[in-house]
Amino acid sequence: MAVTTAPHLSQPLLRSIREAASTERARAMKDLDPYSYVSSWTEEETHNGSDCSALVMILATKGCSWALRSGCSMCGYTNDSASGATDESIWVQYGKAVSALSEQRIVKIYTSGSFLDTFEISHGLRLRILSDLYPRVDEIVVETRHEYITRQNLESISAFRDKLVLAVGLESSNDAVLNYSVNKPSNYAHFLKTTKLASDIGFRIKSYLMLKPPFMSEGDAVNDAVRTATEISQHTYSISVNPTNIQKDTVVELMWRKGNFRPPWLWSVVEVLKRTHSLDKRVLSKPTGAGTVRGAHNCGRCDTAVMKGIADYSRHRRLETLESLDCGCRRVWEAEMRLSSLSQPFFAVDYRKRIAERGVGVAGI
Ligand code: SF4
Ligand SMILES: [Zn+2]
Repeated sequence: MAVTTAPHLSQPLLRSIREAASTERARAMKDLDPYSYVSSWTEEETHNGSDCSALVMILATKGCSWALRSGCSMCGYTNDSASGATDESIWVQYGKAVSALSEQRIVKIYTSGSFLDTFEISHGLRLRILSDLYPRVDEIVVETRHEYITRQNLESISAFRDKLVLAVGLESSNDAVLNYSVNKPSNYAHFLKTTKLASDIGFRIKSYLMLKPPFMSEGDAVNDAVRTATEISQHTYSISVNPTNIQKDTVVELMWRKGNFRPPWLWSVVEVLKRTHSLDKRVLSKPTGAGTVRGAHNCGRCDTAVMKGIADYSRHRRLETLESLDCGCRRVWEAEMRLSSLSQPFFAVDYRKRIAERGVGVAGI
């Protein structure tokens, strides 16, 4: 399917979605201690095909620049920011979190925003953190919006590129989904341009895509995720499928409370992984909040087994792990998928009409 380009988007509709996101976010604004990191844990990972562990740390910065203006429809990360954060306080947070580093070969540094946005992490602090970590681990993962992947930014950290993975939240390769559904002011063409620049310099790109942002049927969501993974597979080192979960004080939470949104089925995650298995890139999923009403879930009886299957597949890519999964609720999911296929696909409808019909959007929220 052709990618929808930004000029076709409805500006009044976008404005209304952005205002709604901003209102929900304002409710969220918690101001954390600038000297305490948000959280840290060790998780299972793979590196060059072998099992290992990764230290994950979430640092409290001043917050994602986009979240402070409006924010993506599903993202509650503003709950994790500290308006008083400075280079010095973030360095203290990092020092506390990295003290847990022992046998982990990978460190993932998340800021609930963009590591390459100097509003959050200055050039100097960025170099200080990377210089400290580089000799101690095999891989460092940082997250950033592709808007901050510039030649200047990349060149300033190119000395670390052989160990550095830039994790980028593309979400979808369809600009209409990005703008109306995710409420992210990005476009696919820019993702392609900047990730090519980064790859040419020698950085690895990990792409996040969103499974079932709002206003999409289950079937549309699965198709969009599969298409996005297929389209980006030549431009990325690995792909992480992130099912939408209900985070506090977001547009998605507002819709969920009104009965207008259900997080995706775990069967949908399984389906995306199966349909992208033949791609020559690693496609994985670590669903946040899975098995709960706020995360991707099935009937409740099979959730634990299906989550385990998804986790095993994400590490070892054995298709039979997914194919052996079953439960009576799969028939309900299959029926929902068939129903989705009878309605017009998300990309073909007039968004203003669909959103108005569903009671959310311009006037409904
Ligand atoms: S998903 Fe990323 S870009 Fe969107 S509001 Fe959250 S932190 Fe910002
Ligand atoms: Zn079930």
